[in-house]
Amino acid sequence: MTRVFSGIQPTGIPHLGNYLGAIRNWVALQDDHECIFCLVDLHAITVWQNPTELREQTRQQAAVLLASGIDPVKHILFNQSAVSAHTRLGWIFNCVARLGWLNRMTQFKDKAGKDRENHSAGLYVYPNLMAADILAYKATRVPVGDDQRQHIELANDIAKKFNHDYEVEFFPEIEAFVPPQAARVMSLRDGAKKMSKSDASAQSRIDMTDDADTIALKIRRAKTDPEPLPSSPEGLAERPEARNLVGLYAALADQTPEQVLQQHGGEGFGPFKKALTDVLVARIEPIAQETARLLGDVPHIDAILRDGGQRAATIADPIVTEAERLVGFLK
Ligand code: ATP
Ligand code: MG
Repeated sequence: MTRVFSGIQPTGIPHLGNYLGAIRNWVALQDDHECIFCLVDLHAITVWQNPTELREQTRQQAAVLLASGIDPVKHILFNQSAVSAHTRLGWIFNCVARLGWLNRMTQFKDKAGKDRENHSAGLYVYPNLMAADILAYKATRVPVGDDQRQHIELANDIAKKFNHDYEVEFFPEIEAFVPPQAARVMSLRDGAKKMSKSDASAQSRIDMTDDADTIALKIRRAKTDPEPLPSSPEGLAERPEARNLVGLYAALADQTPEQVLQQHGGEGFGPFKKALTDVLVARIEPIAQETARLLGDVPHIDAILRDGGQRAATIADPIVTEAERLVGFLK
């Protein structure tokens, strides 16, 4: 059975972009794949995290995933720092990846901005650790949003160079599994920026724990333009905010943008935003309620993650031990 690995950072509450770009597809893959889902706390601290909040966010993240339909018994759900294989292989990959490769990573440029010198070294080598996360399990399919495509390509370059340098066929090729719809959900405040947990404005995203009133308010305030909706997707080309809202509606209603515009073309944003709010609330409210219920039993969440970590280590430890032997470490 194909092995799937995917991760999410406990840097805040999962938002609609995480759900449509990643979590929803994780749930679907569980039927016919062996899945390993990871709360990547090592990645989270590449940007400063308050320790108490990091712990809380890790549990909250776990609760949202469970509420969305992740099965921690048939599959594995754990937090990254619990399995040392990630950092062991991550260090080897720091020594395999070239600086020139990392210099091309657009996410580092986006996150560091102009103030490059003041960011952590961890933020810079983050993609090497991400390659280790996946390859420590020899996972071959990685469901991600569009923003992670470049990191998966880098992971493949690292795997190839490792195999070449040590004259082995050890690490497999990885396939990014990017959803056909809503692979890049944009900020509600700026159609040129992706929706992110780390965006300073809470109004820029819909959290998977938002209640109906909060969702309605955020959608009412979402940036749009004064024109009514066009009757076909071509009319959205120069209208990023409108395109984003139509894309969200389509992904949630299981329609194509063409179908959405056949129905809503010519409408102003007032009625369309109401219709969008309805489909959002219908999807998010049950997840938010179940998340709150699960968070009432923290020891249960911790037990799930502990069990997941032990099972993850059983898979990763022998693979990473073999990689260390190939490198020449005394074992
Ligand atoms: P941060 O701002 O801390 O980086 P994030 O919102 O980018 O947080 P991640 O934890 O980095 O979220 O990513 C988790 C998963 O969600 C990844 O598979 C990523 O590709 C996907 N994802 C993140 N943002 C979006 C988005 N706006 N649209 C679609 N998928 C997304
Ligand atoms: Mg991110």
